[in-house]
Amino acid sequence: MTERLYYHDPYLREFDADVVEQTTHEGKIALVLDRTAFYPTSGGQPFDVGTLSDVRVLDVIDTDDGRILHIVDRAPEGARVAGTIDWARRFDHMQQHTGQHVLSAAFDRLLSARTESFHLGAEYSTIDLARELSPAEIAWGEAEANRVVWEDRPVAIRFAGPDEIARLPLRKEPKREGTLRLIDVQDFDLSACGGTHVARTGAIGLIAVAATERFRGGSRITFLCGGRALAGYRALRDAVAGSVRALSVLPAELPAAIERLQADGKDLRRQIKDFQAKLAAQEADALADAADTAGETRRVIASLPGWDAAGLKLIASRIVERPGYLAILVGDPSPAPIVVARSAGLPHDSGALLRQLVERHGGKGGGRPELAQGGGITSAPADVLQSARDLLRT
Ligand SMILES: [Zn+2]
Repeated sequence: MTERLYYHDPYLREFDADVVEQTTHEGKIALVLDRTAFYPTSGGQPFDVGTLSDVRVLDVIDTDDGRILHIVDRAPEGARVAGTIDWARRFDHMQQHTGQHVLSAAFDRLLSARTESFHLGAEYSTIDLARELSPAEIAWGEAEANRVVWEDRPVAIRFAGPDEIARLPLRKEPKREGTLRLIDVQDFDLSACGGTHVARTGAIGLIAVAATERFRGGSRITFLCGGRALAGYRALRDAVAGSVRALSVLPAELPAAIERLQADGKDLRRQIKDFQAKLAAQEADALADAADTAGETRRVIASLPGWDAAGLKLIASRIVERPGYLAILVGDPSPAPIVVARSAGLPHDSGALLRQLVERHGGKGGGRPELAQGGGITSAPADVLQSARDLLRT
């Protein structure tokens, strides 16, 4: 059994201890001390990092038999070590964890919404509530939790045996038996917990709900406390400032301004499509009028700079609406699209023609005898057109 110094003094950052065992855990060196201030991952709270003398602590693990394994980067010299925990990381965890007690208690007391689970992540923390709450209910719980933060109530640690436990109004049925460690937020919340907490609710600073989603028939609440709430506010402030500058509106007007932009964009895309169709028709008519005549067939073999695959298809389709036409059109710039089409009744196979052209000029594609399309042509358009003429000559 390792003596857990953080049980009685979560503010202890430095301590001395004896190494009572050196072992390995998943291929890494693990130390067991007679006592420790390092918190091992448990109850939704992640482990502490820090140093044991000049050795770095990379992970801290709670074993089933009550020992705490300190995973270290190398073995220390001697059996006595001076431990120092990374206080910034630990204090952040204490803010998030104590904030969770207060937030869970607020939802429980006001709305009878029980907390099913808690996760303290690297960026966000979440609680999963047993029932789904409305945005107004969530705001109510959030406001109540912050009232308790600002009242700066004491957060006491005490221990109780089974008889006393049976009589106490614990928020949650304890999972363990025997003597329990209780966290008592004065006149607001009493929970069995082995984690580390701040000494007064004021040290939580602020509890901000960052997001809510439906989860397993209840609500998953994502929240930020203390330093993380400030960091989250700064990130939002910077994002909003950039958007406000770009759109020249007030922050509150952003959603409406974005909706307007989206509607404008949709209108413009529709207009462009209409113009493109009209232009394609004109282009098709001009090309058809100027077509070469080869026996019974009129041929349009041309490169059309600036037209994309959809535009080329529009033009080719319009050309071959006339009887007796074969159209081979290449776009520009590289890698270019290509379309081959022919009027109904002509013997040419557009698909076969296109495959031969793309094979020679680095693209791919295919299609039916009436119409085929491809892309990725890397040769100069003039070379592709020459190949097309050569193929039709044979
Ligand atoms: Zn706790």
